[in-house]
Amino acid sequence: MRTESTYDVIIAGLGAMGSAAAFHLARRGVRVLGLDRYTPPHALGSSHGDTRIIREAYFEHPVYVPMVQRAFELWRELEQASCTALLTQTGGLMIGRPESELVAGARRSAEAHGLAHAILSASQVRARFPALHPQDDMMAVWEPRAGVLFPEACISATVAQARQHGATLSFAEPVQSFAAAGSDVRVSTTRGEYHAQQLIITAGAWVGSLLPTLDLPFRVERQVLHWFEAATDAELFAAERCPIHLWQFDGCRLFYGFPDFGSGVKVAFHHDGELTTVERVRREVAPEEVAATRAVVRRFLPSADGPLRASIVCVYTNTPDGHFWIDHHPQHPQVLIASPCSGHGFKFAPVIGEVLADIVQGMPPRFDLQLFRWR
Ligand SMILES: Cc1cc2nc3c(=O)[nH]c(=O)nc-3n(C[C@H](O)[C@H](O)[C@H](O)COP(=O)(O)OP(=O)(O)OC[C@H]3O[C@@H](n4cnc5c(N)ncnc54)[C@H](O)[C@@H]3O)c2cc1C
Repeated sequence: MRTESTYDVIIAGLGAMGSAAAFHLARRGVRVLGLDRYTPPHALGSSHGDTRIIREAYFEHPVYVPMVQRAFELWRELEQASCTALLTQTGGLMIGRPESELVAGARRSAEAHGLAHAILSASQVRARFPALHPQDDMMAVWEPRAGVLFPEACISATVAQARQHGATLSFAEPVQSFAAAGSDVRVSTTRGEYHAQQLIITAGAWVGSLLPTLDLPFRVERQVLHWFEAATDAELFAAERCPIHLWQFDGCRLFYGFPDFGSGVKVAFHHDGELTTVERVRREVAPEEVAATRAVVRRFLPSADGPLRASIVCVYTNTPDGHFWIDHHPQHPQVLIASPCSGHGFKFAPVIGEVLADIVQGMPPRFDLQLFRWR
């Protein structure tokens, strides 16, 4: 018998992925309860820091391209429904030596999917985007559709839309454990107990704490973001003149940057951080970390070498192969897991929400999800 605390689906974690799943399920008339340990959007997980890149010529693997194409549509739909600006298209550059994983991978995806793109030499990049100074032995893949998402606004809009469609969302209510048997999943929180036919776990960097019986190979990695004021030629960093840019340099090192949306030029390394846990992560930023980022700014974005405006810490949760994990719990088919996203998942949030809703409803997958299965 159904009671007030019985739902079709419970979602543990309402950050980027969980809020999107709540929205898609509620929109389809499914009775959803979403629970979060904090009040999203918040700055303690993986979805804060003003901006996220969305790009289509996906260097990590061509299989992501149809998913990101659907994500573009869904972000635009959410913008319309919420009357909020969430996505600014700036175009994007993947810059590095021709054989680098970044450049070769972006090119492979662009060619495999027939995406609009151009190959630019270092001097063409410098002439067209004077804020960026690639070395002569570098080249770039230019893609016109790439751009910037505003993650806090995206999550606020998704949460509001989920509620509008009837989802029950409870904040500051951490899930402590669950027990699954047959068609019932019992979820215990700090405030009570709930039942549902299915549970979706989208707890990001906390996913391990909800899956104590699994020996998970995931690693939480500390990431530092910096905002620098332009020292000269500030107009070169305006969104109309400066695309999002990712760089591979000195072998395998990666960094990325954004145009200036008013808070400074945001720059960060991609995967250069210390391994940690979300409970113990060092939130303060050391002067040497600023200096290391500034050295890269001086080298490749020299006009951005002005005063430091801010530095903050965020976390990636990485799988061993750097892809996502979207699959059922290996022992409990009533439990679906969609974490981690290895530091590149935000752009896909609405499409992952849609995919999770499809799986819960037993619909055939609309994308190839093999890469994301439990192995
Ligand atoms: C510095 C940085 C830069 C990035 N840049 C990009 C980028 O440019 N483009 C891109 O696409 N991706 C990017 N990413 C990756 C992307 O932001 C993440 O993959 C995505 O935000 C993760 O979303 P999530 O829903 O898994 O996690 P989160 O948004 O962190 O959500 C997890 C939620 O679960 C809740 N929770 C945890 N435990 C419990 C519990 N026991 N009970 C209830 N709730 C719980 C948390 O409070 C949290 O709200 C970046 C990540 C970082 C850190």
